[in-house]
Amino acid sequence: MVSIEQAQHAILRRIKTLETEKVSVFEGLNRVTPVDHIAPWDIPPADNSAMDGYAFAFHTLTENRLRVAGFLPAGEVRTLPVPPGQAIKIMTGAPVPHDCDTIVPVEEVDEEGEWIRLKRQPKAGSHLRRRGEDISTGNVVVAAGALLRPQEIGMLSAMGKTTLDVFRRARVAIISTGDELLEPGSTPTTGKIINSNSYSLAAQIIDAGGAPVMLGIAADTLADTCEKIRAGLYADMIVISGGVSVGDRDFVKAAIEELGGEVEFWKVNMKPGKPLAFALLDGKPVFALPGNPVAAMVSFEMFVRPCILKAMGNRGIFRPRVEAVIEERVDNDGPRPHLVRGLVSLRDNRLVVSTTGNQSSGRLTSLTQGNGLVRLAPESVVSAGDRVEVLLLDRSFEMGKEMVS
Ligand code: AMP
Ligand code: MG
Repeated sequence: MVSIEQAQHAILRRIKTLETEKVSVFEGLNRVTPVDHIAPWDIPPADNSAMDGYAFAFHTLTENRLRVAGFLPAGEVRTLPVPPGQAIKIMTGAPVPHDCDTIVPVEEVDEEGEWIRLKRQPKAGSHLRRRGEDISTGNVVVAAGALLRPQEIGMLSAMGKTTLDVFRRARVAIISTGDELLEPGSTPTTGKIINSNSYSLAAQIIDAGGAPVMLGIAADTLADTCEKIRAGLYADMIVISGGVSVGDRDFVKAAIEELGGEVEFWKVNMKPGKPLAFALLDGKPVFALPGNPVAAMVSFEMFVRPCILKAMGNRGIFRPRVEAVIEERVDNDGPRPHLVRGLVSLRDNRLVVSTTGNQSSGRLTSLTQGNGLVRLAPESVVSAGDRVEVLLLDRSFEMGKEMVS
């Protein structure tokens, strides 16, 4: 048996980064830039006012009154000089005339016709935003390898970008195997169940930034399994659920070999999920995950998601791990590390976690009721109040309990 980390390492070193594509700047969100972005100009481009107020030259101020010599809204430039001892009314963002160096906000003056009276002594240089104080020409503002968040999209837009090169989305083909499967929309009859794995896996792929390619259900025959896998080779990766154990009707491993793939098959030392097959077929990664709905999703989390993220140029490819206080005693009396599904929440500014009950790997509610995986060492017990490590699967714990109505 191999450890989770050994299997991750063996798979990840085979994953190559995809090509880049040009997208509009806002479609760059949550994608990775392959290149440095260099500022073509200073931001802000000129000294400008941080407030609606009055601009003047501090050293010409001799009394607490100033005559108002003009008005300067944002978007306009004043070329006329501002006479000594006078001020101009200036709006936020307007370029400060070269002979002024100080701004007093409107709230700090009394307006008296053509004059203003200062309520208090201003500070020299106040409320002025300097040219280039955000960014100077030539600076790297978004570095190669950066994940583009809303703030990077804003920054790149401020640099005049309308399109960007980013690593393209990974197209991931999904195949579910099993003669017992019906598609959602049909009514389950005796012996049949609804194929949910194709859809949970598709959602996980989208969540990782990839694009799912739905190939439906393969019957439990070698021929049909081969046909579906061959169709999947149009994608960048293939994810298969079910048919990977040692049952009489488990054809996935044989099908990949039939198509010329060299299968690395592991029993991964984890619960849920143990059988995992990985192969490169025509250079494309193929992942064969267990069929049980929880095992399929958890295996995707541990092995497929990091690969999609790596292929799309990301540096951070693993979920965050946090320490939380567990609220109940939990036993792992088995020989494998147990990824127990738990609900993490914030209480009194501390993370706490409770388990989601029955941890059967067929019980999808153990995941719907939770948002994290508590990793318990083999043959170990944790007691209520112990600190445990939790892999955070989403950010629902941040939402707390209060609703804004
Ligand atoms: P298998 O790995 O093919 O032996 O499947 C293990 C268990 O997972 C069986 O109980 C299957 O019915 C169930 N299962 C397999 N594929 C799916 C699927 N696509 N959706 C929901 N359950 C599935
Ligand atoms: Mg099956």
